[in-house]
Amino acid sequence: MTSQRTRDRMVGRLAGQGIRDTRVLEVMAAEPRHLFLDEALAHRAYEDTSLPIGHGQTLSQPWMVARMTELVIQEAPARVLEIGTGSGYQTLILSRLVPELWSIERINALHRRAGPRLRLLEAHNVRLRMADGGHGWPEEAPFDVILLTACAGELPEPLLAQLADGGVLITPLSTASGSQWLTRVQRRGDTFETQRLEPVRFVPLLEGVIR
Ligand code: SAH
Repeated sequence: MTSQRTRDRMVGRLAGQGIRDTRVLEVMAAEPRHLFLDEALAHRAYEDTSLPIGHGQTLSQPWMVARMTELVIQEAPARVLEIGTGSGYQTLILSRLVPELWSIERINALHRRAGPRLRLLEAHNVRLRMADGGHGWPEEAPFDVILLTACAGELPEPLLAQLADGGVLITPLSTASGSQWLTRVQRRGDTFETQRLEPVRFVPLLEGVIR
């Protein structure tokens, strides 16, 4: 149930659901999503569903990971910041496709589990930090792409400020009525062009840290 065959089937479904970028499909066919789940859930790793990772958080469904990865790499970024490491699965997929990656998680227990997994899988181009990602990672800015894997209520100013000129922020963003839209924001000098992509469902971006 955690075999290459189940992974290939998952990737076949992703292609059928409109994921076009063969680099994303190849990486997702190769990487062990089941290692990012508790043993009791590992057999469900390649189903097209989000799965709990503890602390009220979820590992996004494979389609969502694929879609966000596609959006990130189409910018051909050199430096990428991810907010919401969670299990580290999205981090791993991205790490195979971008030169340098920074990822922040606010829940210490998740942060501490993600590190060893990523090291075991030799994702040596990733740096992790336990912090409130809403403040970004100022010492490493600017970033070509900033990706949020939790839903913001509004665009966090510090993150916009840490985008390179021409850089792109990709985030789920909630509207007043409570719906969530995957949103792409591109920086042009001091102006920010916002584009709504598709409806999504994510856990909320929260403030502060949990030690
Ligand atoms: N990409 C993750 C999905 C995690 S769910 C994966 O592949 O497993 C979203 C994650 O964002 C959760 O782990 C949550 O704790 C984290 N998060 C929410 N608000 C945050 C913030 N302000 N800073 C950093 N991480 C945050």
